[in-house]
Amino acid sequence: MKTEVFIAGGGVGGLALAAKLASRGVHVTVAEQLKSKSRAYKGELLQPKTLEILDRIDVLEQIEASGHIIDQLRFQEIKHCHGQEPESMQMTELNYSRVASPYGHALMVPHEMTKDILRAKAQEYEEYFHYLPGARFQGFEKGMAKVRQKKETLNIEADVYIGAEGRSSPTREAMNVNIKRKEYNHHFLTVTIPRPETFTKGKIITTTDCFLGLFPLPDNEVRTVYLIKAGEFKRIKEKGLEYVYRAYGDLEPELKQTVKAITDWKDIQLMIPYTYHVDRYVSGNLALVGDAAHTVHPMAGEGMNLAIQDADILGELLAWCKEENKDFHQYLHYYESVRKPRVSFLLALSHMSALVYSFPNPWWRKLRMRAVQRIYDDDQLHVKQMLNISGLGMWDFSLLDRAIQGSVLPPRRKTISDQKQLNRLFHEKEDYPWKF
Ligand SMILES: Cc1cc2nc3c(=O)[nH]c(=O)nc-3n(C[C@H](O)[C@H](O)[C@H](O)COP(=O)(O)OP(=O)(O)OC[C@H]3O[C@@H](n4cnc5c(N)ncnc54)[C@H](O)[C@@H]3O)c2cc1C
Repeated sequence: MKTEVFIAGGGVGGLALAAKLASRGVHVTVAEQLKSKSRAYKGELLQPKTLEILDRIDVLEQIEASGHIIDQLRFQEIKHCHGQEPESMQMTELNYSRVASPYGHALMVPHEMTKDILRAKAQEYEEYFHYLPGARFQGFEKGMAKVRQKKETLNIEADVYIGAEGRSSPTREAMNVNIKRKEYNHHFLTVTIPRPETFTKGKIITTTDCFLGLFPLPDNEVRTVYLIKAGEFKRIKEKGLEYVYRAYGDLEPELKQTVKAITDWKDIQLMIPYTYHVDRYVSGNLALVGDAAHTVHPMAGEGMNLAIQDADILGELLAWCKEENKDFHQYLHYYESVRKPRVSFLLALSHMSALVYSFPNPWWRKLRMRAVQRIYDDDQLHVKQMLNISGLGMWDFSLLDRAIQGSVLPPRRKTISDQKQLNRLFHEKEDYPWKF
């Protein structure tokens, strides 16, 4: 079997790449090991840059219709004593609208819905899109991809082979790259529960030692993420679901009743955060996208966004090579040079955000409260934070910024103009430099 681009893995990264390539007349074959939808939680927050990319693939309207808009992130610090209403100590709201872009919000979309929409888009170009469900990529043999489907072995020959298999990637193994894994002192419990119609804003509620992230989904549901100490899951399970009801109800009384919709521990997924980043994205005619190349701490909601953003750059590069009759191999290095520094930057940002919530000490909380409030009080910090997590651009924090955030210096009064931000946004020249 022959194809131009072979993609191992039909997750968000693989499917976004396939949709882009097929729509541009590049023949693509996707091998996905699963036969049907996965029930595992794998991230739902689509950042503004991802929305821009989905717009270019022409699926934004459907995505927007399937999502819940997150226009701001609320950080609430509370004091709570069991059995009493929590007392709000500080509420800071950071707004996506501070970024100078028409894509001024994020969107919560069920993960499988995003995949369905991308797959359906690719299927519109049936001449160029070949999807193999229940097909496990096993590695390479005689320069071809070896895929096992329904007890048969397929050998697929391609010009370029893409590893989009997620965290466990045979393509990565074949590339022999180096990875260093970093672990954290905490894990998360995550579960979707019903929400009252009035509960519409994304919110992170914290005490000295508790953390509850709440992100509304469509259909009056809310994704919840509750931080626990690493290795504590078994002990918490022994305490029964009552423990979860009480923990959630104490932190967010609005969810006191709806949390009881959890009736089985099977509904709750344990999430163990860790990070890694490969040293090379490309080797010969092999390339990695998404979690095969990097995994990020989930605190800043970036994992699936990085995968789709990788797919955009690589897809544009491969489509351009075909359109311009250029040799794929000579240009693949551009993909790594665009994406690797951006991913490193966001990995560091997500790691910092994780540390902010990693230590259950009153003095650490005090520092955190001041630092978060400073992001709101100082417009430059506010713009930088939202611009960076949006993926629309990159604007690093300076020493002066950090001194202001750490309350060593007072906040600036100046507002950052849209014009000033324009230099920090990614334009076509930064996204697709090989065209220039
Ligand atoms: C528990 C968990 C929670 C997460 N929470 C968040 C979050 O809150 N926010 C966020 O943005 N991100 C989150 N992420 C990360 C996010 O899911 C990933 O970053 C994103 O899905 C990466 O997309 P991908 O396409 O690279 O990989 P994946 O989504 O993992 O897709 C890989 C696909 O390849 C298939 N596959 C694997 N091996 C093979 C093979 N050998 N042959 C054929 N097919 C194969 C898999 O079945 C899968 O469909 C989470 C991830 C996990 C695991």
